[in-house]
Amino acid sequence: MDIISKIEQAGLVGRGGAGFPVAKKWEAVKNAAGDKKYVVCNAAEGEPGVLKDDYILEHYADRLIDGIKIAIDFLSERRPTSTGRRTSGYLYLRHDYYKKFRKKLAALIKNSAIEIFVEPLSAGYIGGEESAVLNAIEGQRIEPRLKPPLPAVRGLWNRPTLINNAETFYNVSLAAAGGYNNKRFYTISGDCLNEGVYELADDWLIEKILRHTNNYPKFEFFLQAGGGASGEVLNAGQLARPVGGAGSIAVFSLAKHDFKKTVKNWLDFFIKESCGQCAPCREGVLRLREVLIAEKIDWNLFNELLDNLSDASLCALGASVSAPIRSLVNNVFQQVS
Ligand code: SF4
Repeated sequence: MDIISKIEQAGLVGRGGAGFPVAKKWEAVKNAAGDKKYVVCNAAEGEPGVLKDDYILEHYADRLIDGIKIAIDFLSERRPTSTGRRTSGYLYLRHDYYKKFRKKLAALIKNSAIEIFVEPLSAGYIGGEESAVLNAIEGQRIEPRLKPPLPAVRGLWNRPTLINNAETFYNVSLAAAGGYNNKRFYTISGDCLNEGVYELADDWLIEKILRHTNNYPKFEFFLQAGGGASGEVLNAGQLARPVGGAGSIAVFSLAKHDFKKTVKNWLDFFIKESCGQCAPCREGVLRLREVLIAEKIDWNLFNELLDNLSDASLCALGASVSAPIRSLVNNVFQQVS
């Protein structure tokens, strides 16, 4: 069975948040015109409460490198390798992960066509967005690119580029060896007893995950599921659903976190991490913070700014500001007020 059939059989979808079928993405790059192609493994997670890349590099670096090599081989099939046109790969690593794992990775990479690229220290959260990753490797300003064209068609140095995150390459390696068993990584953090990364079935519901890991709170709480900055906020009665997104569950004690403090922390994060390229995000998040900390919140203006961020932001960072805030209002503070 070829690798695409194995990936399809395993039902692999991207683990960066969008859930796009892996096989489709790989085939799109394969079918794109170009005499040189690239593979990029994004292992520079920057979202608060997401630490799965660290866990994979610690425990399964061999699988990760194997997955990248499989992708390079797949894109190199029926392509000349003696003319310097072979497919090559980059492992895009967070700076601290490079320091932690470089010796182990160098031993695994040996003389294959994989090069480690260390994410610049200044890159921040947006440095993990896939097109910003490409800019960083090219030495351009680290900010998202306008899409289309997608990286599959025009990526690194305008060449077709396959970019997946670390968990996807890990899963591809398992699928290739017939060892993929429908698990995924969950990062649990916040007001809980057993913070950490857990590899559990990908269809488990949030409540089951919390109970299984002995993290189900004994106090009143809410949580943020999916992404640590962009995930939806849920109350204790809404946990009969899978986690989704990047697999994070951040638990918040209601006694410790009020509405204003929670939203202000999120907005401070988005203000710090915005690349400043587009006005809805650059100005909108600042204005939101002003409205939030005013003595009396102007809810019409607050909602208008959230709508604007969702509709007009250039990339997912700005577009995702509204989801946690709106769900915090709808699912938690309406209920306790
Ligand atoms: S939404 Fe924010 S992070 Fe994204 S491109 Fe615009 S300014 Fe940059």
